[in-house]
Amino acid sequence: MKIYLYFYTNYYIKPISMPRQYPKKDCVNSDCKMSFTPQRRNQLFCISQCRINHNNDKRREKNLTVYRLEKELKRNEKILMKLMASPTYKDDQIAEIFIIHEGFNFDVSSDTKLNSKTRQLIRWSHAYGIEIKDPAHKTFTIHKRNRI
Ligand SMILES: [Zn+2]
Repeated sequence: MKIYLYFYTNYYIKPISMPRQYPKKDCVNSDCKMSFTPQRRNQLFCISQCRINHNNDKRREKNLTVYRLEKELKRNEKILMKLMASPTYKDDQIAEIFIIHEGFNFDVSSDTKLNSKTRQLIRWSHAYGIEIKDPAHKTFTIHKRNRI
């Protein structure tokens, strides 16, 4: 409930608001979760240290995810480089089974680009990319990026 005390003058009415009461809530910091009375409506943490800890944890988590993705991309890159030079890579294609056997991660890519000639998507792992060549026979073409 909002309570106003009105101060009258000849020209204007100036409301003087009382400190607002907000309902209790639980601190968003998962290590704390303490019930507290917010001073502001959008207050999420009981104390500022809880906010700092929570944000540090989130940043650490994000860095770890970036680190893991980078690790997978580097691994994919190595695999494609190796396969491209191997005797199993013939006529610009290689069977999916060889790629799977090496442990290639099909779920990650650094970027993708549409091959304007084939109308297929090249999924890059940095310098090396993979593109479906023959969907019926599950073969892939490996690309090496042209350095600009
Ligand atoms: Zn807290």
